[in-house]
Amino acid sequence: MDCVFCKIIEGKIPSDKVFENEYVLAFNDIEPKAPVHILIIPKKHIKDINEISEENIKYVESLMLSIKEIAKIVGVYESGYRIISNTGKDSGQEVPHLHFHLLGGKKLAQ
Ligand code: AMP
Repeated sequence: MDCVFCKIIEGKIPSDKVFENEYVLAFNDIEPKAPVHILIIPKKHIKDINEISEENIKYVESLMLSIKEIAKIVGVYESGYRIISNTGKDSGQEVPHLHFHLLGGKKLAQ
């Protein structure tokens, strides 16, 4: 499968990793939109939020639980942060592998 995030999981494309467990990988976005811009992805190819199901919920559960741990690692747990997940064409989703953007490190525009 020609998926850039699957290739990152497999180690075929390098990434600037900040967190990893059995189900989840988090790394710095290559084109950061804020001082802190992390991508959090499941280590299984789930296309987007619409593809979350009972079958892959363990990955999503772990991803959700990892958010606050990653926020601590990158120093925004106290100051605050924003989570965004684009789904589908109208959202502008570029990479069709479920991912959560964690943005912070400055006061974010509303
Ligand atoms: P989205 O538009 O929600 O699909 O966001 C995809 C994100 O992936 C963008 O913010 C890109 O900058 C980021 N991205 C694409 N390729 C890489 C890569 N090889 N390493 C890190 N981030 C990437």
